[in-house]
Amino acid sequence: MTETTFDVLNPATGQLIERVADGTVQDATEAVHAAAAAFASWAVTPARMRAEILRRCYDLMVRDTDALACLIATENGKSVQDARAEVTYAAEFFRWFSEEAVRGEGTYGDAPGGGAKTLVTHVPVGVAALITPWNFPAAMATRKIAPALAAGCTVVLKPAEETPLTALALARLLQEAGVPEGVVNVVPTTDAPSVVSAWLKDERVRKISFTGSTGVGRILMRQAADRIVNASMELGGNAPFVITADADIDEAVAGAMIAKFRGGGQACTAANRFYVHEDVIDEFVEKFSAAVEALEVGPSSNHENQIGPVISQKARAGIAELVKTAIADGARVAVQGTVPDTGWFYPPTVLVDVPVRAHILSKEIFGPVAPIVSWTDEAEMLKSANDTEFGLAAYVYAGRLQDALRIAEQLDAGMVGINRGIISDPSAPFGGIKQSGIGREGAHEGIREYQETRYFSVDWS
Ligand code: ADP
Repeated sequence: MTETTFDVLNPATGQLIERVADGTVQDATEAVHAAAAAFASWAVTPARMRAEILRRCYDLMVRDTDALACLIATENGKSVQDARAEVTYAAEFFRWFSEEAVRGEGTYGDAPGGGAKTLVTHVPVGVAALITPWNFPAAMATRKIAPALAAGCTVVLKPAEETPLTALALARLLQEAGVPEGVVNVVPTTDAPSVVSAWLKDERVRKISFTGSTGVGRILMRQAADRIVNASMELGGNAPFVITADADIDEAVAGAMIAKFRGGGQACTAANRFYVHEDVIDEFVEKFSAAVEALEVGPSSNHENQIGPVISQKARAGIAELVKTAIADGARVAVQGTVPDTGWFYPPTVLVDVPVRAHILSKEIFGPVAPIVSWTDEAEMLKSANDTEFGLAAYVYAGRLQDALRIAEQLDAGMVGINRGIISDPSAPFGGIKQSGIGREGAHEGIREYQETRYFSVDWS
């Protein structure tokens, strides 16, 4: 193991939390040795036994909720409330996939022309490389580890450089739950391109599951193409949040607060653009602005705080630049909160009078900024809402369910929250269309991403 380390910093203070071993290509390859060696027995471990280990992972995560939430809040910066919600969500993947692990289905059928029977089954794809981002250090890891292990795969995981501590804590917890040595191998590194390319070049790695930006996803899909590696991609988003003239505005404000400000807006499902019907825009802006102004912003060390810093100085500069450009495009600041002097905080901000062509509406903001656009014509609003390469999440608030469903059906998104500001659920198939990704995580579909389908054509006449 490498002796070089890198610093993990607290984004609320800029101070060092811990030094972590900086994984090299050699460490990456050793992790694949371990995963490949463990695969032989893990793949044939009875599903019930794998399920029970996964269930213990769930129990232990629930037991350690406070400690894990504190760790997430410290290295990621999100509020303790958000971090606790993340631990609950993350743990649910273990419970869900412990239940799915034992539901392995195949089929048995007659070939239509007669003469043969077809037996279809699903087998684990092999060693899976998992690459996760910093915005949900626990949930993005468990959303991949749990289905992989349920399917019988072993894994090598590269957490984001900003937040490796949660992944390392999870690895210890999995070991305590009885996950055998070599089944889960975590390699933190500052050299993601070298480590991940080493994995994609290694013929023992048969799967990559990536969550992160569309740009990096594109690079990894190109690399995966060299050996036709099975790839699942959860990429960027640009979620529209639509409010119709007869929506319940108090409900819409409550939903908007969650959809926009959970994790400080640093979620790929975060509401990125608000399309509010002209008839209700004044009421919405007034109530939403009041709610935004009331947000408690500060470090997670104060458990009352609701919004923490963004992940880095660079991220903060990027958000500030987007807001500057929006103002140059004609937007007006309705509300902008205040922030502590130290740490990488960006104030929660509401922008109004945002022109429909403003640059900010085409970018994933990844911060606590809410641009609001007014609409009157539904067809034109839908055209603007769909005018993006992304298609991950969308939200609709409407008084009549048939209006909500009509609009939802026409929004290009893999997931639509209808009169709800939160859509993530381990029992539902999370994923995007267009350039937001390929594949689904969670639900029944989630386990399939880690399996190959095989069939036996049998003549037993
Ligand atoms: P974000 O903008 O959310 O940080 P990224 O796509 O940059 O998203 O990062 C997501 C994950 O991908 C992180 O674990 C990061 O280290 C990793 N990553 C970034 N660039 C590369 C690359 N060129 N090759 C492999 N992994 C990468």
